[in-house]
Amino acid sequence: MRFARLRLNGFKSFVDPTDLVIHPGLTGVVGPNGCGKSNLLEALRWVMGENRPTAMRGGGMEDVIFAGAATRPARNFAEVALVIDNAERLAPAGFNEADQIEIVRRITRDAGSAYKVNTRDVRARDVQMLFADASTGSHSPALVRQGQISELINARPKSRRVILEEAAGISGLYQRRHEAELRLQATEGNLARIDDVVAAMA
Ligand code: ATP
Repeated sequence: MRFARLRLNGFKSFVDPTDLVIHPGLTGVVGPNGCGKSNLLEALRWVMGENRPTAMRGGGMEDVIFAGAATRPARNFAEVALVIDNAERLAPAGFNEADQIEIVRRITRDAGSAYKVNTRDVRARDVQMLFADASTGSHSPALVRQGQISELINARPKSRRVILEEAAGISGLYQRRHEAELRLQATEGNLARIDDVVAAMA
């Protein structure tokens, strides 16, 4: 799986539709201060399912929508599309049926986010699991923000372990275990209620 294209529309400073081709190999983004380099990295995290507004340097998720400028009104929605080259068919099961995978996330004011994978409506969780199973995603250590290196050097061993687990591709398993535990708890609750009903009828 390789990132092939990133399309932005109304995302932060990228008010006009912008289409970036990501070539194989190392990609660098250069430009003057404030031109939107970090916004690009945030767009990548966001389309992969990032849900913490703080990770987007905002107070709420709608802050990713173009907020307007002296000469341009604010937009009502923001959309980011990430195209993945899957010619080698390395995508996780369930997403591996095509040579290209296009993930689209769109946020509309007062209506929240919606996701699509190859035009099919999916949940945020499906997108997050796709990337977790592929050992990448919005929390991936491959996406390095400013200041993150010094944070890593000063990190506690527990935080470093999270990075190693991500690299080992097991972070998706933690999410599944958590969901299985919640289902187990719900089932135990149902069993307890059945016991109560049976006891009441006896
Ligand atoms: P530096 O090199 O200083 O870190 P940068 O190239 O990484 O800068 P960014 O931080 O990505 O730049 O972009 C900052 C710009 O994005 C600012 O001009 C800011 O006003 C603009 N911006 C951020 N959010 C929005 C938004 N919701 N609507 C419009 N513009 C926005």
